[in-house]
Order: sequence, then structure tokens, then C-alpha cells
Amino acid sequence: MTIAITGATGQLGRLVIDVLLRTRPASELVAVVRDADKAVDLAERGVAVRVAPYESRADLVTAFDGVDRLLFISGSEAGQRLTQHQNVVAAAIEAGVGSIVYTSAPRADDTDLVLAPEHKATEELIAASGLASTILRNNWYTENYAATVQQAAATGQFVGSAGDGRVASASRIDFAEATSVVLTTDGHQGAVYELGGDIAWTMTDLAAAISEVVGRPVSYVDLSHDEHVAALVEAGLPEGTAGFVAALDANIAAGALDGPTGEISRLIGRPSTPLVEGLRAVVPTRP
Ligand code: NDP
Repeated sequence: MTIAITGATGQLGRLVIDVLLRTRPASELVAVVRDADKAVDLAERGVAVRVAPYESRADLVTAFDGVDRLLFISGSEAGQRLTQHQNVVAAAIEAGVGSIVYTSAPRADDTDLVLAPEHKATEELIAASGLASTILRNNWYTENYAATVQQAAATGQFVGSAGDGRVASASRIDFAEATSVVLTTDGHQGAVYELGGDIAWTMTDLAAAISEVVGRPVSYVDLSHDEHVAALVEAGLPEGTAGFVAALDANIAAGALDGPTGEISRLIGRPSTPLVEGLRAVVPTRP
């Protein structure tokens, strides 16, 4: 069985390939990348590397030739993804891939999450494609909070506007293992998995976890939306980016990332990585 992975040189894509290689020969894997130079190590491990940017439908059709299962990792350029994703889905149809697994966003079809519209539209494209499919609606990666850990380690606090909202995060490796299970076992066709960790935590919980990791008291300072935007702008973020970050916190406050929990552990047969452990992995090791 040939399994192709798009976004294969990204952080999630690389982990999925690592996990697949535990049980599958490299000859069964195809890494679809936009820059072959970043994939030299994958080629050295025996993985076929095919170059196809999401902008080129023709290259994608060629890259998907002979693919039984396609892991379509959503692009990282928010705002440009709908056109890119249209190319990926059209190419998957044209190449006749056996099935498609797509990394989406929590409750993509019914949420105010500011990131969700492109995912919702992509889910609709996939549904209309007639391809056998599985949707992985990935909650937050714990690693998203690496910069928060650094800030808190330096100052003993971090700010936000997420209130008491909860985040059912898990580590990327948990998502990668769950994705590998979906790619390599049967019974997932037509499924929509809300993939989250076992415990949905608040920012106050996050402060306690960071405190444990960095070894100093850490507090979470909850701001209003406007105060949060102003603080981010003062810290050097462009106004638009600051507004986007604060909008995500508003989504969290409203419950957009509050579970459901436990779907990842059900798929991978072990608990998801605890928050403290996931954060510890992103702390730079001291020389
Ligand atoms: P990365 O940014 O590490 O990887 C994104 C991958 O997509 C990279 O391999 C990148 O290629 C590839 N890519 C981006 N644009 C294109 C394009 N136009 N054509 C071809 N390939 C492209 O993200 P992660 O691996 O951490 O996450 C995977 C996806 O999950 C993200 O792309 C995003 O959609 C989503 N995400 C989810 C988060 C969550 O917390 N659940 C947080 C952040 C993102 P290259 O290696 O050349 O840069």
C-alpha cells in the first residue's frame, strides 16, 4: 500500500513519517513537498520525495500517482489555503487516490473559531469529491505554547484574554500517532474525529504547568480583548496579527477548543502526553 504525506517537511508531517516508518517500509511512503532540499534526509531514509507545491495542480496530480492513501496536511498560509486546497482535492480526484485523510480544525463545520472557515470549506470540497475520506479535526498542539513558556520563564507571568476557557491540547507526537493509526488500519472511512488530548486545561492550569517546568512561580494575567491587542502590539506584533491572536483567545474563552477529550488516546491506545510533559519537551535545554 502506498501512503503519501503532503506537508511532509513540516513538523507534523515529519513526525507522521517517523511513526509510519516504525511499521511500514520506506518504499511504501511518498513525501510530497514543495522544497526538495528540505527533504534530503527523507530521501536518504528511502522515502520517495515528490515535489508539488499546493499552487500547482498539475504537479500534485503527478505526485499522487499510484497513491492508495493520502494524508493531506492543511497548508500553513492562512488566507491562501482555499485555492491551494482546491488544487489538492482536484488533483487527488484526477490521480484517483484510494482515500484521503485531512487535518482540519475543531468542530470546523459549527464553530466561531477564526481559523475554521478554510477548513470547513476544504471539508466540503472533500465531501463533494466522492473520495473515501477521514477528517481529523485537530485541537491545539501543546507546542503552540513554546513562546509562552519562554515568556513566563523570563518574567514569571504571561498574558492573554482566554478567561476560563479550556484547551484540549495534545503533543504533536500524539496527533502523529493517531494519524498513523488512521492511515494504516481499516474502519475509518467516513469518520470525523475530533482529536484532542485527555484533559482540557485553562490558562490558570497552564500557568501551574509552566511553573512546574521552569521552576519558578508563574501567573496568568487575564486581560480584556483590547488590552490584549495593545499588549501584543507593544511587544512588537503587527496590529493585524495581534488582533488575530486575541481573536483566538476569544474563541478559547467561548469554548471553541474545550474538547471533546479522549479521542486521541482511544486511537493510539495510550493516554495523550500530559501538559507538563508536553511543555517540558519545548523548553530549550540548558548548556
Ligand atoms: P508546519 O508549518 O511545520 O508545516 C506546514 C507544512 O505545509 C510544511 O511542510 C510546508 O512546507 C507545507 N506547506 C505550506 N504551504 C504549502 C504550499 N503552498 N505548498 C506545499 N506545501 C506547503 O505546520 P505543522 O506541521 O505544525 O502543522 C501542520 C498543519 O496544521 C499546518 O500547516 C496548519 O494547517 C495546521 N496547524 C495546526 C495547529 C494546531 O495547533 N492544531 C497549529 C498550527 C498549524 P515547507 O516545509 O516547505 O514549509
